[in-house]
Amino acid sequence: MLELGFREIDVGGYDSMKFIREMDVVVIGGGVTGTAILRELSKYVLNCVLVEKEPDLALGTTKANSAIIHSGFDAPYGSNKALTNVRGNRLYHELQDQLGLDIKWLGSLVVAVNDEEMNTLRDLLARGIKNGVKNLELLDREATLAKEPNLKKEIKGALWAPTAGVCWPFGVALSFARCAVQNGAEVITNCTVKKILTEGDRVIGVETSLGNIKAKYVINAAGLTADTVARTAGDNSFTIHPRKGEYILFDKTASESLVNGIVFPTPTKTSKGILICTTVHGNTFIGPNAQDQEDKMDKSTTSMGMNEIISSSQKLIDKLPLGKAITEFSGLRAVSDTGDFIIKEGTVKGLIHAAGIQSPGLSAAPAIAEEVVELLRDIENNMVLKSNFKAIVPKRKVFTDLKKEEQSKLCSENKLYGRIICRCETVTEGEIVDAIHETCGARTLDGVKRRTRAGMGRCQGGFCGPKVTQILARELNIPITEVLKEGVASAMFYEKETAGEDA
Ligand SMILES: Cc1cc2nc3c(=O)[nH]c(=O)nc-3n(C[C@H](O)[C@H](O)[C@H](O)COP(=O)(O)OP(=O)(O)OC[C@H]3O[C@@H](n4cnc5c(N)ncnc54)[C@H](O)[C@@H]3O)c2cc1C
Repeated sequence: MLELGFREIDVGGYDSMKFIREMDVVVIGGGVTGTAILRELSKYVLNCVLVEKEPDLALGTTKANSAIIHSGFDAPYGSNKALTNVRGNRLYHELQDQLGLDIKWLGSLVVAVNDEEMNTLRDLLARGIKNGVKNLELLDREATLAKEPNLKKEIKGALWAPTAGVCWPFGVALSFARCAVQNGAEVITNCTVKKILTEGDRVIGVETSLGNIKAKYVINAAGLTADTVARTAGDNSFTIHPRKGEYILFDKTASESLVNGIVFPTPTKTSKGILICTTVHGNTFIGPNAQDQEDKMDKSTTSMGMNEIISSSQKLIDKLPLGKAITEFSGLRAVSDTGDFIIKEGTVKGLIHAAGIQSPGLSAAPAIAEEVVELLRDIENNMVLKSNFKAIVPKRKVFTDLKKEEQSKLCSENKLYGRIICRCETVTEGEIVDAIHETCGARTLDGVKRRTRAGMGRCQGGFCGPKVTQILARELNIPITEVLKEGVASAMFYEKETAGEDA
């Protein structure tokens, strides 16, 4: 047996010509799009597997974005973006409790600083109403400042969209995947699709780094590389190019001098603009800018980008607390040559693309998933809904949120809950062990961090990192040198060469 990210599969004796699995559907890519699709598919009597090249889910574009569930006024009327955004937003309101999603419905403001921008807001309002967004409202200066007192006093007004919110994108993707797995689907991490296999004019499966998987249908949700993946099947119907967005994240203590919710400037043609926004965890960020580039891997931040987002934010707020910036990061939008989401069967039968899923792809994910499954239902007339689909995903207990009596009970049942590993965020060993062994559990240091918050505090893992590494090695029964920080090739420790050996 080979220990894979989230699943063990028997690969004994397979060679590259044999199939290690025979499935109805393979989903390529474990971002928010792929996991939402897997969940939607798991409502049907189908054998489905999702394959992800990284050791954990959501390490692509889903990892670094603004985390906003947009209301849906921005995208052109009738576009896939508009339709799936508005529907996706509604679905998240329903899914929040079922999946235990961390979402704060804060509402969003698009702020105008002059009369011309006020006219743009009127256009956005009209478009939003046409797109089906509920409860949009134009606010004057006073009403805007009442919501966001730190904005410049000279602003003109704002478009208020109460249905917008902020979420934890990793948690969203993880919950979609966990829901799918509890309904019989599989998730295999550390598994790269090298080629989509075809016979005549239709797909027959995928060749992966772990062997071939036979499948009637292949769903391509490979994010930035969806075009490369499609080309392996001879499908050249679209291209994807990366558009970088850079951010600055502030310490929680900076929040009171920034904003309470989600504040956009009036948008431009290429971007919704550089926003000032709170996160579900109570930090605030500014960003993103929009820089087209060739390289699909380059996520470096630049001083030019930082200056751009700082000066743009200063149009809305006088004093940015730059001394309280704690980190900079960037994400890459997967921009398609059509400018819209590509949700269609490709030039090869049985290959369905969910590609070019740039913003508002996070907001749209549950609706994109519905569309993909609808496409599948059009070509496969043998799809039967399960009668026993389990919609509720149990949420793991957070030790610090429990009452004293509950904490004592937990500690007396299992002493690991009495051992604090992350002092900054008060995370216990019991929670870390649970996060490793739960469905789609953590396999890396950052995987533990995202699931439990161990390492997210002031010391950023300086104190607990080595301890979490030891726990991962112990629980996964692997040498400490095999514990990864995040992606492939990110080992935490290496073996020292013995003295006297030549380098
Ligand atoms: C700067 C920025 C800001 C944004 N802000 C927002 C926002 O506020 N609201 C919003 O709604 N949207 C936002 N978005 C868009 C949103 O983040 C994306 O639409 C969404 O995350 C796309 O998810 P995905 O699953 O399609 O792609 P990804 O998350 O990139 O997932 C693709 C997955 O496929 C895997 N993969 C690739 N190739 C292979 C292969 N050959 N084999 C196996 N696996 C493979 C990758 O490792 C990756 O995990 C923003 C995007 C950016 C960049």
